[in-house]
Amino acid sequence: MSFRREPNPNRNFPTFCPYCSGEDLWPNEETDFAWKCGECLRVFEVKFHGQDDPQSAPAAAPSTEEALQASLRKHGHTAVMKEGNR
Ligand SMILES: [Zn+2]
Repeated sequence: MSFRREPNPNRNFPTFCPYCSGEDLWPNEETDFAWKCGECLRVFEVKFHGQDDPQSAPAAAPSTEEALQASLRKHGHTAVMKEGNR
C-alpha cells in the first residue's frame, strides 16, 4: 500500500492565493490540481488550458543585411550598397 500518489507533471505552482493573496499554499488531496490556502482555508485549482492564437502577429523583423542595405539607401550611401539594392 502506497500513501503517496504518482507525481502530476501538469500541476502548476501558484505563488499567491487568488482570493486573499496569501502565500501559505499547500497541495490538497481534493484533486490532482488542488491547492489549499492556509490563510483563508479555500481550496482551489490552477490549470493551464493552452494558448490561443493572436488576432494579429507582428511582421517579421528584417535581417541584419536587409536593415543595413535599407539604412545605406536611406542615407544615400549608394556607392557601398550591394548590386540590385540600389
Ligand atoms: Zn487564501
